[in-house]
Amino acid sequence: AAIIEFKNVNKYYGKLHALKNINLSIEEGQVVSIIGPSGSGKSTLIRTMNGLEKINSGQLIVTGYDIADKKTDLNKIRKNVGMVFQHFNLYENHTVLENITLAPKIVLHRDNEENHQIAMDLLKKVGLADKADYYPRQLSGGQKQRVAIARSLAMKPKAILFDEPTSALDPEMIQDVLNVMKLVADEGLTMVVVTHEMGFAREVGNRVIFFDGGEVIEDEKPDVFFDNP
Ligand code: ADP
Ligand code: ADP
Repeated sequence: AAIIEFKNVNKYYGKLHALKNINLSIEEGQVVSIIGPSGSGKSTLIRTMNGLEKINSGQLIVTGYDIADKKTDLNKIRKNVGMVFQHFNLYENHTVLENITLAPKIVLHRDNEENHQIAMDLLKKVGLADKADYYPRQLSGGQKQRVAIARSLAMKPKAILFDEPTSALDPEMIQDVLNVMKLVADEGLTMVVVTHEMGFAREVGNRVIFFDGGEVIEDEKPDVFFDNP
């Protein structure tokens, strides 16, 4: 079933036509890599998927909610659809553990003991169990991004959106983050990933969208996409 569905979606920044009549359906469990030149609208596309950017026309349904309907509570969508940003966006004044437990506590009212247990399990999964009491400033970029992924997973989302998750990282840290993303993909979570990492697009993702000029230019399985020069 479709978890994210665009029908004739348009987005403008003033006169700039950033998304041009997008028709796109993302199915449950797909790992979609969105690639394309800088300024082509990839970030805009992904940010519309949890309401960080408004659309100007068309219809966008995310986990059953119509995102342009004023009656839709965007928090419900954001509960279902997590986001991992290029620059991590961690809470700097909270520890790593608190970064992960905060939203489940406030939004989901998760019991403290269970919340702590889930967070610690996730920190183990991303290889940072020993950093639970650190503050973000004490971590490398790669470690911060792995905390951000754990934070997203703690909400038990139906999908996670990644906006250039490795673009701000030193090269030696990129692989650690990609390995965690592969773990998440292997568990069957729906992922939409704006990325320049062709290895990820080819080997982890199962769908590649080439975006340019505000439009989907190609939409293929990785083996087809990468065999066509
Ligand atoms: P990409 O992620 O592919 O680099 P973006 O979605 O960031 O592309 O940007 C698409 C186009 O929209 C670019 O021309 C960019 O300058 C423009 N743009 C992005 N965000 C804004 C904004 N908030 N206001 C005005 N123009 C924007
Ligand atoms: P990214 O490529 O990660 O989207 P950018 O530097 O393109 O980073 O954009 C950073 C921020 O500035 C984003 O919030 C984007 O919406 C905004 N932005 C991008 N282009 C423009 C623009 N031409 N005018 C105003 N805001 C913009």
